[in-house]
Amino acid sequence: MKLSLVVPCYNEAGNVELFQSAVMQAFDGCGYDYEIVYVDDGSKDATLHNLKKLFAQQKCPVKVISFSRNFGKEAGLFAGLHHASGEYISLIDADLQQRPEIVREMVQILDEDDSCDVVAAYQDRRGEGKVLSLFKKSFYAIINHLSDVTLHSDASDFRTFRRSVAQSILELGEYHRFSKGIFAWVGYSTRYIPYTACQRASGTSKWSFRKLMNYALEGIIGFSTRPLRLAAYLGCLTAAAAIIYLIIVVLQKLIVGIDIPGYATVIVLILLLGSMQLFCIGIIGEYVGKIFEQSKQRPIYLAKEILTYEK
Ligand code: UDP
Ligand code: MG
Repeated sequence: MKLSLVVPCYNEAGNVELFQSAVMQAFDGCGYDYEIVYVDDGSKDATLHNLKKLFAQQKCPVKVISFSRNFGKEAGLFAGLHHASGEYISLIDADLQQRPEIVREMVQILDEDDSCDVVAAYQDRRGEGKVLSLFKKSFYAIINHLSDVTLHSDASDFRTFRRSVAQSILELGEYHRFSKGIFAWVGYSTRYIPYTACQRASGTSKWSFRKLMNYALEGIIGFSTRPLRLAAYLGCLTAAAAIIYLIIVVLQKLIVGIDIPGYATVIVLILLLGSMQLFCIGIIGEYVGKIFEQSKQRPIYLAKEILTYEK
């Protein structure tokens, strides 16, 4: 098998059939074998039913993995990589925002250039609002500053890579998966090509602003321990300020002889130090939570059904 297309699907009932036709059209006469690995991420609509129909038809080789509940796109990608048998593997969304024709281009680049292991697409023109765009920019600035990996700011999960890259990604068994970070962490020589995201064929995006914020935090916590150091820095800073203030108070008492009316100062300091401590405990708590989750060693996904074709 030359190419596996890994397609995570969550409530994409209206898209999967259109997606399949678009893929078959794009790869018509390509001269190599390809398969589609659909992962149904616990959809609540008719997605699984439609995927089973595509599986029964086998117009091109189709596999379907269905999760026991919604585990998230990251788990879907992981499961898809697990079951993909292609020499090249492509990650693509089911909503036709990412055109299959681009995958064909990616395959061509991998074929022509032996030194290239990953072809990743980045969005060249964003149709999103200014606020969201600003948040995204700030996120990339922060994470690139804090962590050891460098993320391409507009790069998506839309990419095609060689089998060796997929194997490396599968070796990273972390429970909280942040693909952009994982891709950057495994390395390999990556070529970026621009693409313009199309409109969703049907349905709505699963990403709300709150979900995006959580995802961003996951990324920072998952790929950097610098925020922990921030607690130590803050501690040093307040200790230094406290010592300076102590000296001032003692000198005022001994030399000038004034009594310091302390009530307001005490309240302000209690509030300030209390909130700083809570802030630091919060940061530590985030990491402890991640350690707790990881130490349970739960599987990244549970499949209730795996449909594969005969080789
Ligand atoms: N997706 C998924 N599980 C989820 C959320 C999304 O498998 O919990 C899939 C979804 O079906 C789609 C892809 O991930 O194929 C990208 O999701 P979406 O289109 O909502 O994201 P956006 O394109 O808006 O970033
Ligand atoms: Mg989408």
